[in-house]
Amino acid sequence: MPELPEVETVARDLQRWVAGATFAEVEVRWERTIAHPLPAERFAAELRGATIARVGRRAKSVLIHLVDGRVMTVALRMTGALIVTPPDAPEDPYARVVFHLADGRQLRYRDVRKFGRIGLFAGGGLRRRPARRNPVRRVAEDRVPYRVGDVFARHGPEPLTRTFTAARFAERLAGRSARLKSLLLDQSFIAGVGNIYADEALWIARLNPLRAADTLTPDEVRRLHRAIRKVLRDGIENRGASFSDYVGADGEPGANAERLAVYQRTGAPCLRCGRPIARIVVGQRSTHFCPRCQPASPPVTAVEEASA
Ligand SMILES: [Zn+2]
Repeated sequence: MPELPEVETVARDLQRWVAGATFAEVEVRWERTIAHPLPAERFAAELRGATIARVGRRAKSVLIHLVDGRVMTVALRMTGALIVTPPDAPEDPYARVVFHLADGRQLRYRDVRKFGRIGLFAGGGLRRRPARRNPVRRVAEDRVPYRVGDVFARHGPEPLTRTFTAARFAERLAGRSARLKSLLLDQSFIAGVGNIYADEALWIARLNPLRAADTLTPDEVRRLHRAIRKVLRDGIENRGASFSDYVGADGEPGANAERLAVYQRTGAPCLRCGRPIARIVVGQRSTHFCPRCQPASPPVTAVEEASA
């Protein structure tokens, strides 16, 4: 499933290749891909003739900013991909939405399992909190304008921004008794981290995935903060990790999967200590770690040993 580095790779590709392009026609082949506005014909009609200003990312969504201020959001979810193709590219049976560009190229939204969602929203609204949990799905169609900020109002901070400091991370961890692995996957706690990069960050920081967040020492908090940013930056550098369907906007897989230390390396030797990587299930998510480098309890300090 695409996480921050994969989605960022797609967004950067698209910024390079389709910024300035105009949508000539939009063909929706699987209506349920469209989350807003509905029906899908309205979505297509509202996009016709619009020009892309720039492409960015928020959390695990690609944001296609239009010149008129509106924003198209693309949540790739499990198997979604955005691929730019030349005019003569062969048909793709998994293309759920085809954006025909005025220059003849196509921007294809490909999605084998069809979990991804695309929406078109007014700009702004970043500070307003929606009352309901799933604003995209439940928004009343007559309540306009619905703003892109509402879609992300419940999301936590972006881990690669300058404002996401170790101090801010420590503040967010304080008083949270959730297990580290579960907390890192919680999009309202921190945006963009999923199963791959949570496991990788915990391994680099030498922290057990089952540790309660509020038991971390200040040094451990700093280690985890640094590790999260490192795994995400490395992931972007390597154009993301492809395990099944993820590809960049060039249609090619990323190179980061082979560089991971623990994710899906169950039984393989730990790159640090040589012991086999273990797999456990935390909150229904498979979790990979080194039992030796990431012990269940923090090591007992000499002082505690002496007083015991
Ligand atoms: Zn190890």
